[in-house]
Amino acid sequence: MIILYTSVTVTGIRGLPLIQKGDDLPGLIVERCALEEGDIICVASTIISKAKGYTRHLKEINPGDRAKKIADMTGEDPRFIQAVLDQACDVLIETPFTLTEVPGGHVGVRSGVDASNVEDGLIITLPPDSMKEAEEIRNELKSLTGKDCGVIVTDTCGRSFRRGQTGHAIGWSGMTAIRDFRGDNDLFGKTLEITEEAVVDEIAGFSNLVMGESNNGVPVVLFRGIPAWSGHNDLYFSPEEDVIRKALKKE
Ligand code: GDP
Ligand code: MN
Ligand code: MN
Repeated sequence: MIILYTSVTVTGIRGLPLIQKGDDLPGLIVERCALEEGDIICVASTIISKAKGYTRHLKEINPGDRAKKIADMTGEDPRFIQAVLDQACDVLIETPFTLTEVPGGHVGVRSGVDASNVEDGLIITLPPDSMKEAEEIRNELKSLTGKDCGVIVTDTCGRSFRRGQTGHAIGWSGMTAIRDFRGDNDLFGKTLEITEEAVVDEIAGFSNLVMGESNNGVPVVLFRGIPAWSGHNDLYFSPEEDVIRKALKKE
C-alpha cells in the first residue's frame, strides 16, 4: 500500500474567542475556514472541555485520604489531586507525579487535568469520552458544510524516556488511529512484520506545534492534503501486552 504525500498544508485557525460553556465549536470553526472534503481538523481537548463544561472549581472539591497522602508527597494541592483521582480508572504511579489511565484507555500524567488557559480557581478535565467528542464534531461539521472531514481531539502529553511534551490524539473520527504496514514490502522486497504507524499521534503532534502551549490562542488546526490510510484503532496496549505498565505496577 503506497501512499504518496505530495504537499500538506497546515493552518492554525485564528480568531476563535475564549471558549465558554455552551459554545458551538463546529459553528465557530466553519465561520473561520472553508472546509474541503478530506480535511483533518485537530481540536485541543481544552476547548472541548470548556465548551462542554468539563471543568471544576477547586474550592468545591473535598480531598480524600488518598489525595491528601499523594499531595503530601508531590507538594501539590490535594484538591487538584482529588480531581485527578476522580478522572482515573487506574493509577499507575503516585509519585513523583500521578500517572493514570482515564476511561477510553489513554494513560497520562495527572489524568490530563489542567490548570492552564482557564480562569483562576477552575481546572479543566479531559472529556470523559473523547472518541464521542470527535465523532460529534465531525458529524456537525458534515451537516454544516456537507464535507466529510476527519477530526482529532488532542492533548499535550509527556512521554516516557524523553524530555518534552508533544501533542497526542485522545479521540479521533473519520480515520483509523494506526496505519498498518504489516504485509508491505520494504525497498528490498522484505515483508514488514511489525511496523504500525500511529498516524493520529503524528498529526496531533504537528498540530500541537502550531497551537503552542500558552497564549497563542490557536486551539484548532486544519490539515489539508493528507491522503487516506487504512489500519486499525487499537492504539492503546491492553494491560496484558503493556510491559511498561506491568513494570510500574510490579505485576
Ligand atoms: P491542551 O493542549 O488541550 O491542554 O490545550 P492548551 O491549554 O495547551 O491550549 C492549546 C492552544 O489553544 C493554545 O494556543 C492556547 O492558547 C489555545 N487556547 C486554549 N483555550 C482557548 C480558548 O478558549 N480560546 C482560544 N481562542 N484559544 C484557546
Ligand atoms: Mn491539556
Ligand atoms: Mn497544549
